Amino acid sequence: MGIKLSNRVQRMEPSATIKLFSEAKKMMAEGIDIVNFGVGEPDFDTPEKIKNSGKQAIDDNFTKYTVTSGIPELKEAIIKKFKHDNNLDYKPGEIIVTPGAKAAIAEALAVICDLGDKIVIPAPYWVSYPTQVKMVDGEPIIAKTEEQNSYKITGELLQEIVDNEGQVTGIILNSPGNPTGSVYTKDELAEIAEICYANGIVIIADEIYEKLIYDGEEHISIVNTNDKIQDLTIVINGVSKAYAMTGWRLGYAAGPSEIIDNMAKLQGQTASCVIGISQKAAITALEMEDSEIQNMVDTFKKRRDFLVQSLNEIEGIECKMPLGAFYAFPNVSYYIDNTDFNGTDELSQHILKNAHVAVVSGKAFGMDNHLRFSYANSMENLEKGIQRFKNCLLELI
Ligand code: PMP
Ligand code: GLU
Repeated sequence: MGIKLSNRVQRMEPSATIKLFSEAKKMMAEGIDIVNFGVGEPDFDTPEKIKNSGKQAIDDNFTKYTVTSGIPELKEAIIKKFKHDNNLDYKPGEIIVTPGAKAAIAEALAVICDLGDKIVIPAPYWVSYPTQVKMVDGEPIIAKTEEQNSYKITGELLQEIVDNEGQVTGIILNSPGNPTGSVYTKDELAEIAEICYANGIVIIADEIYEKLIYDGEEHISIVNTNDKIQDLTIVINGVSKAYAMTGWRLGYAAGPSEIIDNMAKLQGQTASCVIGISQKAAITALEMEDSEIQNMVDTFKKRRDFLVQSLNEIEGIECKMPLGAFYAFPNVSYYIDNTDFNGTDELSQHILKNAHVAVVSGKAFGMDNHLRFSYANSMENLEKGIQRFKNCLLELI
């Protein structure tokens, strides 16, 4: 007799980014020269002084369980970061350290969502949001945004959803955004905050790409736009992207103590705590000056400029200039409408198999006429990959 799997796991989709990453790695292990624009992680090494703090923690035998919600020194560093970068005030009881920002979002959703509770997710969205909502029995309400509005949800659209759906429990906002690189302005956020406040909608504000922002754009936290919204907002952040620390698995959340306490209750029954070594290393990361990571940001910007220009030079492709994160999200409708591919899943598989270039299908992000390129890759690979990608597309027409 087969094992009965829960409805929960059967409702879930595997992470498309992680799946593609595994597929590309497997092909590489077979000796195939893959250019990987798939998974979004910095290709830089973790800065030396962060690594040294991790090594020191091991030498100091800081290798036991820690308090579930994070060691006090790290919480202090997080509180200072919020004050310094965002002019926000938090107390230690309003902070939790989690095994990655991904876990912070999952825990936050588990705390606010009951069966059928509605969570608004603007599309295109980061692949994990809808599945994470389903994982806790909630209902994702996908809000299709407009390309002309740089794929951002407007107050008008949110109000329309609230009017149509009745009770809405939460919304997940991501700025700078994955996969679009879009950055919300203060006015746009203020409008959304106003509607959330009026309707008691909890905001999960994913700010993981805060420091990867270009062209003089400014990252604004939604909490800064309305003096009443802090009590309704869970800010998510982490060290994966800005400090090239994806494998250290460290994220954090800040929000009302009632929510944070319950996230800690969940974490105490699942992960127990984040690895102490990573917590010590994260203190060093958060205490670094922005100037120390500026080199990395400047390099991303150069790659972005090259990639977006190269994409726009390909017949039929349109790519908006992303203002943050490290993704380009070109519209490739032309190659769907004029070929036999049934959507971007098939197109991206064709590109992987034939051009040996890994790009994620737009479908995974809720917009099936785009592809996502991560430009967290060397200039040499960008040049090679874009040439192969272009040749592969042009052969289709
Ligand atoms: N949010 C977004 C938008 C992301 O792209 C990622 C990337 N993994 C995460 C959250 C999670 O980051 P991590 O778990 O590595 O901290
Ligand atoms: N956030 C990255 C991405 O979107 C890493 C992979 C993941 O965690 O899904 O590719």
